[in-house]
Amino acid sequence: MAEPIIRAQQVEKFYAQPSENRIQVISPTDLSIVPGEIVALLGPSGSGKSTLLRMLAGLSQPSAGEVLWHGKPISTVRINVSIVFQSFALFPWLTVLENVEAPLKARGMAAAERRERSIKILDTVGLDGFQAAYPKELSGGMRQRVGFARALVVEPEVLFMDEPFSALDVLTAENLRSELLELWQKKTIPTQSIFIVTHNIEEAVLLADRIIVLGRNPGHVRTDFKVTNLAHPRDRKSQPFTQLVD
Ligand code: ADP
Ligand code: MG
Repeated sequence: MAEPIIRAQQVEKFYAQPSENRIQVISPTDLSIVPGEIVALLGPSGSGKSTLLRMLAGLSQPSAGEVLWHGKPISTVRINVSIVFQSFALFPWLTVLENVEAPLKARGMAAAERRERSIKILDTVGLDGFQAAYPKELSGGMRQRVGFARALVVEPEVLFMDEPFSALDVLTAENLRSELLELWQKKTIPTQSIFIVTHNIEEAVLLADRIIVLGRNPGHVRTDFKVTNLAHPRDRKSQPFTQLVD
């Protein structure tokens, strides 16, 4: 197996509570993201999916344990990841093209190069001709396409997605999902790996090479961590459907 890009070792997260003891949201967890795979993190609402994603993406510190980026503590190195959010999180005062250019601008890329790359990625996600539109003029599905373009324009090593289709109607979500998978399989998405958070089992099974399940154990510690390997649909004939790892 390839060396992981990201490796979590015994990561835990506690949140302080005003009136009681702290709540454990993530119990000690080991997991890796290796190049070339789509990993889905599946669990019910409140099971700690976003919390775990934020730690893996270097946005929040674990309460215990460690997240490594190519073997080094993630907080000590420069990392290249992007996150697509459920709520799109576009800048309403910027055009589609300007939204996509924004992360490149923040990295100091020259105007001509940044424009060229942004236009190219907008074409890839099916937004050719929408460069000058503003987010409010677009449907939810189109807005999320802009979200994908803005995340991918920096060519992240890992593309994180936190419930990226949850705000969309069923049909739009289905279309975007299968387009994403098609682009991934054609290797036209400029990222090494995708880590997608979802509460939708079907989505996880459709997209992922590997599914990590965050269970909920109400009352006390809320996480009951199980890692399950599912063969990808295209490989299922030759592999066992599930393999319980933990
Ligand atoms: P999910 O993404 O699976 O819905 P979250 O990671 O958002 O779950 O939240 C897991 C649990 O942690 C929830 O009970 C939530 O209320 C709690 N939580 C999340 N963020 C915070 C925070 N910043 N402070 C305190 N509790 C939090
Ligand atoms: Mg969440």
